[in-house]
Amino acid sequence: MANANAAQAFVPKERLSDLQLVALNGMFDERDALSVLRFALEELTSHPIAMVSSFGADSSVLLHMVAQINPHQEVLFLETGKHFPETLEYVETMKQRLGLTNVRFLEPDTSDLARFDPKGDLWQTDPDSCCHIRKTEPLDAALKAYGGWVTGRKRFQTNDRGVLPHFELTSDERIKVNPLAYWDFEDVKAYRAEHDLPPHPLFNVGYLSIGCAPCTSMVKEGEDPRSGRWRGRDKTECGIHFDVSGKIAKPQAKGQS
Ligand code: SF4
Repeated sequence: MANANAAQAFVPKERLSDLQLVALNGMFDERDALSVLRFALEELTSHPIAMVSSFGADSSVLLHMVAQINPHQEVLFLETGKHFPETLEYVETMKQRLGLTNVRFLEPDTSDLARFDPKGDLWQTDPDSCCHIRKTEPLDAALKAYGGWVTGRKRFQTNDRGVLPHFELTSDERIKVNPLAYWDFEDVKAYRAEHDLPPHPLFNVGYLSIGCAPCTSMVKEGEDPRSGRWRGRDKTECGIHFDVSGKIAKPQAKGQS
């Protein structure tokens, strides 16, 4: 069973070759997400693969699949301190509905918050740094015990994700698994209906992609589902999906040269 507490720190050994990566991606049918997820969690590597969930609009699909494979699987949730109250309620709803016993909250470092975001308004002036402190760093710290992680990313969500495969390698030789890479909005909707999965409380009032409250807005009919994220800003990703080379530095604390 994948368990971060029991796992030793992941030490990259031998990088998968490009050919092995192609073969791995060729092993699975484009839409067979459950098989991809099961393989990732049970067989892919001797190092455990982390399950990460935003408990957002589409999260119920992968959470339902995880519960079928192993309801005791650790599920990592980034508790940024900026979520809608409805998202925190939804975490509890899904835990009860699916019998998930091991949802672990990852929180930002309190000294970083005190130093770089003492008023909690960094999202207004420097959202990249805010995401770095509240998301990227806590996730990086948690992933040290893992050989890779599962994401809910999908090709249709943005142009940048148009070539997303089931399995990717990061430059630090971890494996990123995207079981829903080939799914579209209708696939997600159909799966939720088939399994009678409760929607995020804000989904039915127009929040089609849900992150932190200050950076999420409703989506109008015809708009891209992710257009409500960081609306009006030149930002489409929170940073946890940037590769190592794409990481940003923390902001300078006030008075620091
Ligand atoms: Fe900060 Fe917004 Fe990023 Fe959340 S989504 S961590 S509030 S910038």
